[in-house]
Amino acid sequence: MRHLIAGNWKMNGLNASLAEVNKLKSLLQEKPANADILICPPATLLPSLAQEVAGSPISAGGQDCHTAESGAHTGDVSAEMLKEAGAAFIIVGHSERRADHGETDELVKQKAEAAQRAGLTPIICVGETREERELGNAAAVVSAQLSGSLPEDTNYVVAYEPVWAIGTGLVPSLDDIREIHSLVREKTQEETRLLYGGSVKPANAAEILSIENVNGALVGGASLKAEDFFGIIQAV
Ligand code: PEP
Repeated sequence: MRHLIAGNWKMNGLNASLAEVNKLKSLLQEKPANADILICPPATLLPSLAQEVAGSPISAGGQDCHTAESGAHTGDVSAEMLKEAGAAFIIVGHSERRADHGETDELVKQKAEAAQRAGLTPIICVGETREERELGNAAAVVSAQLSGSLPEDTNYVVAYEPVWAIGTGLVPSLDDIREIHSLVREKTQEETRLLYGGSVKPANAAEILSIENVNGALVGGASLKAEDFFGIIQAV
């Protein structure tokens, strides 16, 4: 299975940040044999980033979408709009959306379906909080999130992102990642790509990406700098 290395820029990036994409393109030289590469910038940068990566091994994606195609939803963006802007994937259910905007599993599922309706592949995020892990509930939490968030159409990617590992420099043990990914695999198709996310860096990417049922990474901070992101891609 081809790995997917996806960058989530979150609410970071102005036009000047496209220079990093340009740098990544020159570092890549040619399409990696076994990895697809994706960058999900803020929606404002999506059209120009998509133009910048056209014809390169890099795809562009969105970070969230509304469930509806259009309508009276001030400030929101639909999957169809993201597609027209150049997206091939949309991240849905990121823990920052679940926490900051109270997104439920049901809403995440509807957003995943909206992405599929537009012809895009949703990257559906799940993951436990620190407290849930300390209470020994990580597997149960992830399991419930999967039951509630996965749509019927199996054209999706799943990202396991322990909330406590995002942006903290903390990473679960390789055994803990293996355990959750094997649980996610049991609930998904053999061909579904399962990404790990949470403080993936060039220094730890190779060991994380070699774990069974880890088919790529969702990368926040380290996707903002071309050299760091390239280091992770090289680890595949
Ligand atoms: C993320 O935002 O999805 C993420 C994994 O962030 P970081 O790599 O910075 O921990």
